[in-house]
Amino acid sequence: MSGGRIGKPAQQIITFTMANQTGLYCVANQTVPKYYNTKKGLSKNPEWLCIEGVPCIIISNDETKYTLNSFTSSVYREFDVNVDEFNTLFTPIEPDANNLLHLEKYPYPINCNEFEYRTKVNDFETILKKVFREKVISETTRKIFEDKIFQIIQAQGSQYITMKDYFSFINGEKKLSKHERFGHEIFNRNCRWCPPIDITYDEFVETKSYPAPLGIRPKDFCLPSELMETIKELINQILNFDNFPSDEFNYLKEKFPFVQKINTFCKYCGECLDYQEYNSEYKSSTNFMEICHRDPNVNFIKTNMYWGHCDCNRKQGGYSEKSVMLDGVKLMFLNGVINDDEYKLLISKINL
Ligand SMILES: [Zn+2]
Repeated sequence: MSGGRIGKPAQQIITFTMANQTGLYCVANQTVPKYYNTKKGLSKNPEWLCIEGVPCIIISNDETKYTLNSFTSSVYREFDVNVDEFNTLFTPIEPDANNLLHLEKYPYPINCNEFEYRTKVNDFETILKKVFREKVISETTRKIFEDKIFQIIQAQGSQYITMKDYFSFINGEKKLSKHERFGHEIFNRNCRWCPPIDITYDEFVETKSYPAPLGIRPKDFCLPSELMETIKELINQILNFDNFPSDEFNYLKEKFPFVQKINTFCKYCGECLDYQEYNSEYKSSTNFMEICHRDPNVNFIKTNMYWGHCDCNRKQGGYSEKSVMLDGVKLMFLNGVINDDEYKLLISKINL
């Protein structure tokens, strides 16, 4: 089930109003499935349009209902709630004098213009896809792009319950046996500006939304404007791999101002990734390169993300570079490679 992913507007959508016209926002108190508005009435299937802690734009309201657009949906996805439901499920919020929304579930305030950035991300993705399908682009380049762009744009999660399972639980049809784990707090796929969630299963069970998901892994999180920068950075890195065809580089540089010659390399081993290895027999495309975090405790922002070797990412093992450096120095000390003074000096340099 889609989590209201940014996508091309469905043709049946008619009720599109420009964001910020009402200038009013609210935040969802709970994750619940909602049917969105279409030309023919409500959508056939519900989606996770209302996610705990996520702000919505109040598109319009009258005496009977509110029409909302959630930050985690496409700008075209609107849904209605009646007044009673609005009062239960949502809390009205106002941006501060700097146009920032302060939200409990987010690590930093969100500028209201991030709602519009959703469209910019969407448009950018569309343009990229078009250009990478052009004739001048080789099969290998196209394949790398197609294999990887989705991973850059969306947050990947793990299995979570289907709508069917959710409703059967809510209706009381689904009975849980003792110790049975049901539901997952992380969406399988959703946009990167869902709330970052880092709680235990037991804490999840105690939330109002349970068993509906709450958000994405913190390391996957970034705002739409931040994602634009991360996309540019990661694409530019690919175009600067060793042996990337220079004619294609020049062509893409003409198309996209962000394309620049840079010195790029796997931050763990210091070697530049080799474009030609992408299709090699020894290293299948799934084993060669992956998106790596310099520090997995930091989110999906430009300065933290790079293409590294899968082997290197595995060696880093979910720890920050700093943490691995500290381990390395300690091992050197324990094995007599460095003395106590050298050990202390290196530790202090790493901890700067
Ligand atoms: Zn490497």
